[in-house]
Amino acid sequence: MFDQATVEEFRSAAVQRGRLLIDGSWVEAADGATMDVVSPLDGRVLTTIAKGTRKDADAAIKAARVAFTDGRWSSLPPAARKLVLLKWAELIERNAMEIAVLGVRDNGTEIAMAYKAEPLSAAATIRYYAEALDKIYGEIAPTGPETLALVHREPVGVVGAILPWNFPLMIGAWKIGPALAVGCTMVVKPSESASLTLLKIADLGLQAGLPAGVLNIVTGEGTVVGAAISESMDIDVLTFTGSGPTGRRLMEAAARSNLKRVYLELGGKSPNVVFADAPNLAEAAKVAAGGIFRNSGQVCIAGSRLLVERSVHDAFVVELTKAMRGIAVGDPLDIRTGAGAVTSAAQLDRNLGFVKEAHSLGRTVVGGARIREETGGFFMEPTIITGVEATDRLAREEVFGPVLAVTPFDTEEEALALANGTEFGLAAAVWTSNLSRAHRMVRGINAGVVHVNTYGGADLTVPLGGLKQSGNGHDKSLHAFDKFLDLKTAWIKL
Ligand code: NAD
Repeated sequence: MFDQATVEEFRSAAVQRGRLLIDGSWVEAADGATMDVVSPLDGRVLTTIAKGTRKDADAAIKAARVAFTDGRWSSLPPAARKLVLLKWAELIERNAMEIAVLGVRDNGTEIAMAYKAEPLSAAATIRYYAEALDKIYGEIAPTGPETLALVHREPVGVVGAILPWNFPLMIGAWKIGPALAVGCTMVVKPSESASLTLLKIADLGLQAGLPAGVLNIVTGEGTVVGAAISESMDIDVLTFTGSGPTGRRLMEAAARSNLKRVYLELGGKSPNVVFADAPNLAEAAKVAAGGIFRNSGQVCIAGSRLLVERSVHDAFVVELTKAMRGIAVGDPLDIRTGAGAVTSAAQLDRNLGFVKEAHSLGRTVVGGARIREETGGFFMEPTIITGVEATDRLAREEVFGPVLAVTPFDTEEEALALANGTEFGLAAAVWTSNLSRAHRMVRGINAGVVHVNTYGGADLTVPLGGLKQSGNGHDKSLHAFDKFLDLKTAWIKL
């Protein structure tokens, strides 16, 4: 049940030390090293996790390879794999609040969002792919009377997944769900800033009946464990969500090693375009504020650039500021909190750096300060910066914090040029009552998703993926299966 009393049951629960899951066993790092998990709620050490080494990554990859090759998972009848995955989803749901609170203590997301977006969404995702897995067929190609051509769809083999810290379970499940459903085995590296919940649900996976070696989890540093996975000759597909610079390294590593397929879901600088004829400007302001300030802006599709038609700009900023002030920043474990903590001290510093730079350029800044310092945690006021020029760093680089850049425009052409004036292409929105303009903008904006008269709506059934330097490939929807399948043709002379 989602209420404050249930949250309180887990608020101070002892947190187990995190270990590695290799070949069905929980083990320490090969050299026994650990790393501290610092809670963004109070800046204190919550627990430690194993600091995996290259040797550990290699052992996990080997376990996944053996588990794939001997068919203990891929050769199971689809109905049997489905049962295990459905059971896993059920166990995650049954323990949802405990998992959600653990995640909040690890990464600072407000519980109202974390509860839905993490365990519940992960369970729904695993169930979605479990239910779909026995509807995947190959094809018979019409090649003529003398031949029979069959196109098989086969699991690709061993999948490496490298995850970010903002929604470790939701994003993790977007990869683990379809990969395991089609029969692949996996080595997953969670973010060093958010590993605990993934370890927890992996344990539930074992309880649900995942065979040893099918799902391996190696915690540790990106430059060690992540690099080992990306450089491995024995990983067939690498699926990644995280920052652009890391994505680039993964592609380079794939090119240097075995040319593994690399799917990247990267950052964004998503434009939220408000025309004067938006159906309801007050509603647009409220949704725009939610679209950047929830989870303290640590959302890949955050609407971080607000482009507003000049004739309504000032009035809109007033509404926006009102909406921003309505979002309570505070204790992420209070169910009324609208924005929790920034995940780390380093990220907080980065956010504050953008604010400082805006001040120095003479931009108008509302908010922008560190708050709740007395808690020892990493909290920041939601921040609106107006008068941002397209050339400002704030208009070009992803902050990944609660900092909104506002820029006025005069014409539809200018709005489109500003919207597309970025190396990213993840998400966007357009607010207008003019149907033709809405469709023109949807066609014109280079982004994986363009919202109309809303921001951030999503569903498992539709794909999420970036254009341009926001990535390639798609998570979610049935299209996600394609990443983890190979096509093989059988050409038979009759
Ligand atoms: P990050 O790139 O710093 O880290 C992501 C993962 O990569 C971590 O597990 C990290 O340990 C690992 N890593 C780091 N260096 C590595 C290396 N050299 N080799 C292999 N692995 C390495 O990103 P982050 O800070 O965890 O996440 C924030 C970023 O993720 C933002 O840019 C955000 O926009 C993006 N993101 C994108 C989506 C999407 O769907 N497009 C969703 C969520 C987050």
